[in-house]
Amino acid sequence: MKPLIAGNWKMNGLAGAKGEIDALIAKLGGSAPDDREVLICPPATLVAAFAASYSDEAIQIGGQDCHPLASGAHTGDISAEMLADAGAAYVIVGHSERRADHGETDAIVKAKAEAAFRAGLTPIICVGETKDEREGGKALEIVGAQLSGSLPETGETYVVAYEPVWAIGTGLTPTNHDISEMHDFIRSKTPEGTRLLYGGSVKPGNAKEILAISNVNGALVGGASLKADDFYPIVEAAP
Ligand code: 13P
Repeated sequence: MKPLIAGNWKMNGLAGAKGEIDALIAKLGGSAPDDREVLICPPATLVAAFAASYSDEAIQIGGQDCHPLASGAHTGDISAEMLADAGAAYVIVGHSERRADHGETDAIVKAKAEAAFRAGLTPIICVGETKDEREGGKALEIVGAQLSGSLPETGETYVVAYEPVWAIGTGLTPTNHDISEMHDFIRSKTPEGTRLLYGGSVKPGNAKEILAISNVNGALVGGASLKADDFYPIVEAAP
């Protein structure tokens, strides 16, 4: 399975951040690596410009969220169709920051993933437990419930990102054993060929080890995706 190394810029990046993409592409040698896929999900304001600049180049562009509906009276929202129209190939849905900040339920996340398919995008569906849930021995149960509520049943290809909430932006990561156990569990709940990404404090220093774990097919990287000097070594670390 071709690894997918995805950068989630979250609410970071003004137009000048294009320089980081140019630097990343220069490091990649200017063309798409054929043994790994590289994706950047910038803020919505930059999707169209980045997609126009980098079509047919080394990286793909994705959105960070979409509305379940194609259009309508939903001020401030963006539909999957709009992201596709802007040149996106992927969209992240159900990130824990959206689940927490915007009260997104599993049912909403599932509807967003289905909206992505409708628009021809590949959804990256995020799941993950909190610190209390992990410490209470409930990580598999919680993630299992998120999977059964959030995964679409259409038969189309999606990506799942396991992002323990307590590992996001904290510098903490689960043990390799815990990542492996969770990814084996998610593998057992998803169709064959589904790419499973790990996310949460992936850095140049730990990427190689994490990406070597079986059933880890890539990474969803936050902070370390903002600078080409940090992100490129993670892209390189994929086996
Ligand atoms: P960090 O890599 O900054 O921990 O963020 C992970 C994440 O939330 C990616 O979606």
